[in-house]
Amino acid sequence: MLAPHLYYVLKDLLRLWEKPVRIFEVGSCFRKESSGARHSTEFTMLNLVEMGLELESRESRLNELAALIVEAAGIDEHELQTEESTIYGQTIDIVAGEGRVELGSAAMGPHPLDQPWRIAEPWVGIGFGLERLLMVAEGSESLGRVGRSLAYLNGVPLNI
Ligand code: ATP
Ligand code: MG
Repeated sequence: MLAPHLYYVLKDLLRLWEKPVRIFEVGSCFRKESSGARHSTEFTMLNLVEMGLELESRESRLNELAALIVEAAGIDEHELQTEESTIYGQTIDIVAGEGRVELGSAAMGPHPLDQPWRIAEPWVGIGFGLERLLMVAEGSESLGRVGRSLAYLNGVPLNI
């Protein structure tokens, strides 16, 4: 779940595979967050990247990929919102549900962070929180019961 690791793999795949190169991974993420209804310190991210596509097709491809994942999760509406980001300059958030919950954040390249890896290909990428997708799909207000937890078993609280 680390950008350097993705760059490392993509650098070789761009040489070995036909473009566009499409990869995804699902893995645990650990963040020092104050836990809340939408945040836990351990969650699961689905990361996907498509690299080596036409510059002008990035936006429509990003929309397609976002819709593909959101629909596969059983969520019937979503929208994209542009946000400023310290790392990516600009990110596009995928939000849904009554509380406009952030399901994922997307970015596009080429980006200055690509240069040390000698990557100059256009790309789009999205990181989705799987617990957030589940939470919204199930109409739940909080991700506690859908995430990894010692307090719930199969979504049922153990302190009953
Ligand atoms: P937020 O603004 O909601 O705190 P973020 O912008 O910091 O999230 P990103 O770095 O964009 O999060 O991570 C991609 C996705 O991972 C988010 O859109 C969200 O679905 C999920 N996610 C991020 N942090 C958490 C967390 N602490 N607990 C559960 N899911 C998370
Ligand atoms: Mg985000």
